[in-house]
Amino acid sequence: ALVTRFGPSPTGFVHVGGLYTAMVSRDLAHSTDGVYVLRIEDTDQSREVEGADAQFTRAFDAFDLVPDEGDTALPAPRGEYGPYHQSQRAAIYQTYVRELMREGRAYPCFATKSELAQISDAQRTLKLPTGYYGRWAPWRDASAEDVRAALDAGKPWVARFRSEGKVGERFAFTDRLRGRVEMEDNHNDVVVLKTSESPTRLPTYHFAHAVDDHLMRTSLVVRTEEWLSSVPTHRQLFAALGFEPVDYAHLAPLMKQEGGSKRKLSKRKDAEASVDYYLEAGFPVPAVQYYLRGLANPRLAEVPLDEALATPLRLDEFGLAGPLVDTVKLSDISADHIATLSGPDVLAGVRAWATEYDPEVVKVLDANPELALAAIDVERVGVENPRKDLAKWSDFREAYGFFFPELFTDVTDPGDERFGELDASLVRTVAADLADTYTHEGDQPTWFQQIRDLATRHGFAPNPKTYKKDPDAYPGMLRDAANVARVAITGAQRSPDLYEVTRALGADEVVRRLRATAG
Ligand code: GLU
Repeated sequence: ALVTRFGPSPTGFVHVGGLYTAMVSRDLAHSTDGVYVLRIEDTDQSREVEGADAQFTRAFDAFDLVPDEGDTALPAPRGEYGPYHQSQRAAIYQTYVRELMREGRAYPCFATKSELAQISDAQRTLKLPTGYYGRWAPWRDASAEDVRAALDAGKPWVARFRSEGKVGERFAFTDRLRGRVEMEDNHNDVVVLKTSESPTRLPTYHFAHAVDDHLMRTSLVVRTEEWLSSVPTHRQLFAALGFEPVDYAHLAPLMKQEGGSKRKLSKRKDAEASVDYYLEAGFPVPAVQYYLRGLANPRLAEVPLDEALATPLRLDEFGLAGPLVDTVKLSDISADHIATLSGPDVLAGVRAWATEYDPEVVKVLDANPELALAAIDVERVGVENPRKDLAKWSDFREAYGFFFPELFTDVTDPGDERFGELDASLVRTVAADLADTYTHEGDQPTWFQQIRDLATRHGFAPNPKTYKKDPDAYPGMLRDAANVARVAITGAQRSPDLYEVTRALGADEVVRRLRATAG
């Protein structure tokens, strides 16, 4: 059984890549009856944002990624290995740093910022690797007296790890996703404990990773590729601390197509980098899950949604190239998914979304429950290819708003551009005539025949061919007459099948709308 964890930093922005990594971690743990932990990596308090925990809770709840252990984003804190906020573990890290210092594997470094800058400038001039190492690391082998003097002088210090790597030495390990990876070993004496000036005295990412993943009995660290180059440091740290090494799977980051090239999905540039984007737009959660699973294991994009959601992700099916996030593709998947839902399920989805993002829609749905059901069923029930007019719940207002009196604005201006080139007085006459003679009963052909008759009565050409022969002889063609009815009844030049729309609206409302246009 694997123990995995997700370790987000609370910067107030939940990246969709985080959701992706969390999903992978959760799946790998659960497919082995293991445990998936959520640990909040809040050691960089300058980047921290108020309410960031709540953001995670919201995102993780919404996407069904509630961890098995953690002290946030849970119905209740759970797990024996906490606290799961790194900021609350300072004493634990400090204990281990002291231990390393006693063994000579860590040392205090009093170098100032400007001294460090001088060192790297000199290294660059000499075309040497930059960093704190070897003869460039004066505090590495400082005498006890020098250290004492610096401490007595009240100089601030950090703790550095005494690396055993040498410049140019190679390091290899087996990544669970990439196989054997070889790179330069780390010869740098990385900082493990941040400056003594800070009252909280927190560790760096490297050190917290080693201590926490050991103490939380993590067996597989799933994280993005950007950490791959830190593995030599991490392996050295684990060894120095006397910990069993942990396994790693470094995922390729989510990418975005820009012109002819791909780049990492950027928090700064791309709205779709944020989990909030998906929540606010109201993409159904299963559609987003399905999409992300397809990015992770492309085979799952080829199987039906239910199957993809029930199939655990497999490390051997990940690509090494960063998958492209394409919201157009997601919209297609999502529209297909919504088209498979029953009317009540669609309405439940819309309502749940609107509760948070569009309260007016909730009011409207609650005030017109029968109309809502009838509207949503238009071209959905009993048809082979149901309408795919909703890719996300926020599309509801645009696609279905016209059904509801509260969201529909009567078209009272016969000169409105939606009526096209038709003369305003003819628009009025046609609308008035249909209102007066309106027949609601009968099947679709019968209903539509009255539109044909209406068009004939007012001299419209029966078809484009006849019209084109002598355009001046007609005010327009059948479809222009039908458009008067359509715009008056739906407010738009395009709508679902007008006959079906009138079934949902009922005769009284249809006639009322026609009269509003007739003036
Ligand atoms: N806190 C790190 C980040 O936000 C997590 C990396 C890891 O999972 O180890 O990128």
